Amino acid sequence: MSTDLIDLAAPAIDVQDLVKSFGDNEVLRGINLTVKRGEVVCVIGPSGSGKSTLLRSMNLLEAPTGGRVLIEGIDITDPDADIDRVRTRIGMVFQSFNLFPHMNVLGNLTIAQRRVKRRSRAESVRVAEAMLERVGLSEKAEAYPSELSGGQQQRVAIARALCMNPDMMLFDEPTSALDPELVGEVLTVMRSLAEEGMTMVVVTHEMGFAREVGSRLIFMDGGVVVEEGEPHRVLSEPQHPRTQDFLSRVL
Ligand code: ADP
Ligand code: MG
Repeated sequence: MSTDLIDLAAPAIDVQDLVKSFGDNEVLRGINLTVKRGEVVCVIGPSGSGKSTLLRSMNLLEAPTGGRVLIEGIDITDPDADIDRVRTRIGMVFQSFNLFPHMNVLGNLTIAQRRVKRRSRAESVRVAEAMLERVGLSEKAEAYPSELSGGQQQRVAIARALCMNPDMMLFDEPTSALDPELVGEVLTVMRSLAEEGMTMVVVTHEMGFAREVGSRLIFMDGGVVVEEGEPHRVLSEPQHPRTQDFLSRVL
């Protein structure tokens, strides 16, 4: 496949003056955020602050009201942009795993490879098996989602995203729906992805993960980036009163 349009010098993600309104409700009020290749940017903030909307705007699941979003140098808010092609470079993992219940794990991992990437059955199974091994679930290829724990289902969802060979991964509260004892296995997979150099944006309440794995921490409130910086610094010495207030409630 042609990669002629990818600008390797460009940031992975470049959000410029992003505004998003739902009717009268201005949810994002001018967000500027650059994510370099290999960076792990963690996003924290109160419920309703616009974290999911920001993440969803990064692959145009939400169409911005104003501003621009560039992915690897391509302006995806340009009406002429080939959004389907750009989307194949972005893996997304949600709080709800969204696996197909009537398909086994292998089916879930091969369907988009076959339909979107046009891979042969053998090739898509080979990739699926490699990604299942990566998330530690090789023995579950034939299992159905209902036979798996929440943590296992989320690891399958991560493997499914990885099967498309994304350049970057967006995670929206990937562990929030899990029982506490299952959170660790998902964070371990995410940590290994980060160590392999995957570009990641992670909306999370897991402050330990943000501190140890994040290259940068962003605190959002009311549709703006209130504060950002090195995670240890933001978590231990928040500068802005709103960050201080939020952290005093969650830490
Ligand atoms: P967070 O992820 O930080 O909790 P969201 O981005 O989900 O915040 O939501 C921010 C605000 O946008 C909320 O007030 C929410 O009700 C509103 N919102 C989100 N999605 C939609 C939508 N599709 N239609 C209308 N309002 C929405
Ligand atoms: Mg959200």
